Amino acid sequence: MGMEGGCYCGDIRYAADAEPAFQGQCHCRECQYITGGHPNLIMVFPEDGFRFTKGEPQTFARSDLEQPVTRLFCGNCGTAIGTRSPFRPGSIVVKVGTLDNPSVFTPQAAIFTVDLQPFHHIPDGIPSFERRP
Ligand SMILES: [Zn+2]
Ligand SMILES: [Zn+2]
Repeated sequence: MGMEGGCYCGDIRYAADAEPAFQGQCHCRECQYITGGHPNLIMVFPEDGFRFTKGEPQTFARSDLEQPVTRLFCGNCGTAIGTRSPFRPGSIVVKVGTLDNPSVFTPQAAIFTVDLQPFHHIPDGIPSFERRP
């Protein structure tokens, strides 16, 4: 299929050749900081079919956590591009809002509903998990 995306200012661009291995929405408290409060919408791509075609994102990982995710963001405009997670080796987690065409997103599951907020919405017909499936 092939998908492209990037950050708000255009300094960072990426291309994904492979199909996403997973599409979903993450309700965890950590994601709420990044999204503004709503669940984070993500696609997980195999790392070997994914590449940055312009720029390199800055990274951040919390030092106080045992297995923190590494957050990738644009150093110029601050857009959160995605994460690399120790729980998904060989994959990159991309935020759907950075795709050129976010409308292709089809959530397969809601995860980390342990942190669900009363104003969060889960589409009918998809499974939800308190933490990871
Ligand atoms: Zn940017
Ligand atoms: Zn999350």
